[in-house]
Amino acid sequence: MKRAQQILHNTFGYEAFRPPQDEIIETVINGGDALVLMPTGGGKSLCYQIPALVRAGCGVVISPLIALMQNQVDALQQVGVKAAYLNSTQNFSESQAVEAALVAGELDLLYIAPERLNQSRMLSLLQRSPIALFAIDEAHCVSQWGHDFRADYLQLSVLHEGFPEIPRIALTATADERTRNEIITRLDLSEARQFIAGFDRPNIRYRIALKHNAKQQLLRFLKEEHDQDAGIIYCLSRRKTEDISAWLQGHGFNALPYHAGLDVELRSEHQSRFLREEGVIIVATIAFGMGIDKPDVRFVAHLDLPKTVESYYQETGRAGRDGDAANAWMIYGLQDVIKLRQMMAGSDGSEEHKRAEQHRLNAMLGLCEITSCRRQTLLSYFGDTLPAPCGNCDTCLEPVDTWDGTEAARMALSVAYRTGQRFGVNHLIDVLRGGETSKIFACDHHKLPTYGIGKALDKNQWSSVFRQLVARGYLSVDMERFGALRLEETCRPLLRGEQTIELRRDSKRSSAKQQTKTSLPVDIDVELWEALRNCRREFADDQGVPPYVVFHDRTLQEMCASIPNSLDELAEISGIGERKLNKYGPAFLEVISRHLNP
Ligand code: ADP
Ligand code: ZN
Repeated sequence: MKRAQQILHNTFGYEAFRPPQDEIIETVINGGDALVLMPTGGGKSLCYQIPALVRAGCGVVISPLIALMQNQVDALQQVGVKAAYLNSTQNFSESQAVEAALVAGELDLLYIAPERLNQSRMLSLLQRSPIALFAIDEAHCVSQWGHDFRADYLQLSVLHEGFPEIPRIALTATADERTRNEIITRLDLSEARQFIAGFDRPNIRYRIALKHNAKQQLLRFLKEEHDQDAGIIYCLSRRKTEDISAWLQGHGFNALPYHAGLDVELRSEHQSRFLREEGVIIVATIAFGMGIDKPDVRFVAHLDLPKTVESYYQETGRAGRDGDAANAWMIYGLQDVIKLRQMMAGSDGSEEHKRAEQHRLNAMLGLCEITSCRRQTLLSYFGDTLPAPCGNCDTCLEPVDTWDGTEAARMALSVAYRTGQRFGVNHLIDVLRGGETSKIFACDHHKLPTYGIGKALDKNQWSSVFRQLVARGYLSVDMERFGALRLEETCRPLLRGEQTIELRRDSKRSSAKQQTKTSLPVDIDVELWEALRNCRREFADDQGVPPYVVFHDRTLQEMCASIPNSLDELAEISGIGERKLNKYGPAFLEVISRHLNP
């Protein structure tokens, strides 16, 4: 462990391990297997990188996304680690050189894609090479129950069979208990020590608001809070990503679309601009993001509702990996609920599978509609407890107003019933409000006892009532008849007057209290900050790597705060190891001294 400590300090430039990194590292150094569950940004990489450096031989990292291997390898080479990757983007002679280095024992870390392990050539190559450990990144991909299933991951049991002596460490950020058990069985990890770090991401501010005019709401959010920041905006459809990104460009934002239907080259260009340039916004379907290793994403916005709490947590988790303040901002409305419920009912798959999906969507809707702390609910979903409300989510910052919706709910249920459970929400609201549409007259709905009994509430308020009834499962959406609302068994006590219901009072816009300007500490010397950033950008451009591979924002901010004037003082700053100190230190000191004595 002493050696591990030295590497943490000298190579990576960090002061101390974040528990349970130390325990994990010790386990693997001593040859034990480990299963690691840690939130995104928790620091999983060091858990295998350091043991790979301490143990003899090369650490082999299995990772599903080849797009980021280059990046990880760049970052490791920056701190002086002998790292390489093998994937389909290389030509024959490049991969031969890497293979030769592996066999010769010249590599500390090697990243490979899971499908490589299906090749007997690769396996025999590994057999002939000194191996320190196997790290299985994004281990939840082995789970058929989860959302990122990859058939190639099933093959990874060969590691245990072919290399019984070599420690394996499986890592993931998403795992409910079921996924975790599946990882253990499929990867033969029953002997592994399990490390489950807290799931909390305290620097992320969770906000979920009502959707009324998505584009304008988004624009206001970006203008008021993220004028210059990098971020990700998630939408459900490909077309929408293109539409929104074009629209944002028209408003002066550097926004780019990303979805599986884009030309491969364009897609990778957009991804690399997101990584390399500053302040780029990616508007994406869920095709974007797994394993995107960009620490300074300041916001993740959802314009459509994710299907599960797991997806929501994983997607929002891409914000603020550097630990600085970040926003997870979402808007949703009744149409989202109806659309998702229909999509699920119409998907193929067994009844059991559909029920499981509905169940998970219900949990997501529950999160949207709660009136208590969002973070407490989120964490309890993952089996974690937060003893007190967090103070950093919308419901904490601005307690939600509720009202006794019993009477309104009864009217809503009864109008759905009286009209034969065949109509969508708009028509039902028209009937309640005594509308005079041709549909009403054609169906004789103006003769119903519920006609016009709901004039006290406006259209938006009724829509809010229906949304909450659907979200809570009192009403369901009929897939056979587009959007028709049907009564569920659970609404009986409510109709009989045996139960009351508290509803959220939706507010139209999030107030100033919830807003965060996440960019910079207020007392920072902006000129010095800009000068340091320019210096960083020059180094990054020269080497063709993203700026944060040179130094993180946090490291530059610490320079602004402590104004070091020697290499020794610079070395104290977090994120500066020996190699970066020697390589970049003099240039950054020069910038600081020029700033002080112009
Ligand atoms: P994960 O893979 O879990 O999402 P990373 O391994 O990318 O997270 O780590 C997230 C960030 O935290 C990185 O910038 C990393 O350098 C930093 N980090 C990790 N461990 C430590 C530590 N012990 N001290 C300081 N920073 C750390
Ligand atoms: Zn809270």
